[in-house]
Amino acid sequence: MNSLKFRLFALALVATTLATAAEPTSGQPIEASAVRSQCTDYARRVAAIGFDRCLGAQLRLTGAKSSQGRPILIRDIAANAAEDRLRVLVLGTIHGDELTAPVLAFRWLQFASQQPAQASSAATDRTSARIAWRFVPVVNPDGLLATPATRVNARGVDLNRNFPTPNWLQEAPRYWEQRTRRDPRRFPGRSPLSEPESRFIEQQLDAFSPDLIVSIHAPLGVLDFDGPAVPPHRLGRLYLDQVGVFPGSLGHYAGVHRGIPVVTIELPHALQPPTDAEMRHMWDDLLRWIDARLLTRPDERVQPAQTASPMPSVVLPIQPLLPSPLQPVVAPLKAR
Ligand SMILES: [Zn+2]
Repeated sequence: MNSLKFRLFALALVATTLATAAEPTSGQPIEASAVRSQCTDYARRVAAIGFDRCLGAQLRLTGAKSSQGRPILIRDIAANAAEDRLRVLVLGTIHGDELTAPVLAFRWLQFASQQPAQASSAATDRTSARIAWRFVPVVNPDGLLATPATRVNARGVDLNRNFPTPNWLQEAPRYWEQRTRRDPRRFPGRSPLSEPESRFIEQQLDAFSPDLIVSIHAPLGVLDFDGPAVPPHRLGRLYLDQVGVFPGSLGHYAGVHRGIPVVTIELPHALQPPTDAEMRHMWDDLLRWIDARLLTRPDERVQPAQTASPMPSVVLPIQPLLPSPLQPVVAPLKAR
């Protein structure tokens, strides 16, 4: 082989090797590498997530990316085929600085993926097996991984004010200017669904068509609920406290406008995760409520009027945007 032929041969060999590395036939090595990289970052930021737990969650790429190009990862857990009766979407970390939210999302994902093996399994595990789950533990990866972590996304938008509620263009900017006094942590964006992360959630409502959305936040230490159905009275140590809805919030959009029940969990702390026992307690309470209120066939369901729930089951109207000058604003500026 003369020198030119050898160089051509060597070049071809290198090119083939590079092509093989860049374009694996299955696409799986690239996905595995992206998920591993994301889990490394998550576990570095929030030790309680745990790298092994994140990897064990078997997250997959969706094609959706944050505004800084980080993948938004999901995990689907199929229901028992014979009893696929409810679809539940669990969202964590819409606000990037609520570091306990992904911890709970990953732990619940573990619970959901442990299919009951025998009749002696906990009743709530059997309920979970009747549910098709979709978990999105980190909706706002840029906010979570920013230094320091931020409530808003990388473009400075509060994703939980960016959903297309009716009259968004009038109400969301006005609420931001007058009620939050232009708080940069609550900027709703220039237009509804202006952000890739909120568009991703919106797409899930159509693509996955959830019967229930559970959205995990912190640190108000309460439970909120929007939409139809009798709300859960409590989850673990969190008690129901419905205080109304906000222009552009997920609860307002999905719960009130689209009629999908939305359970909003506000963990008590943004940095200190609940104990494992507490996370299990909340899980069991959620599934007991789902079983009683959403999974039970309509003819078996207790009518709301016959229940003794002390909590209101209706969605409260939006609070007035322009309070009287004589009347101080008493409604708390909720962090969710
Ligand atoms: Zn929040």
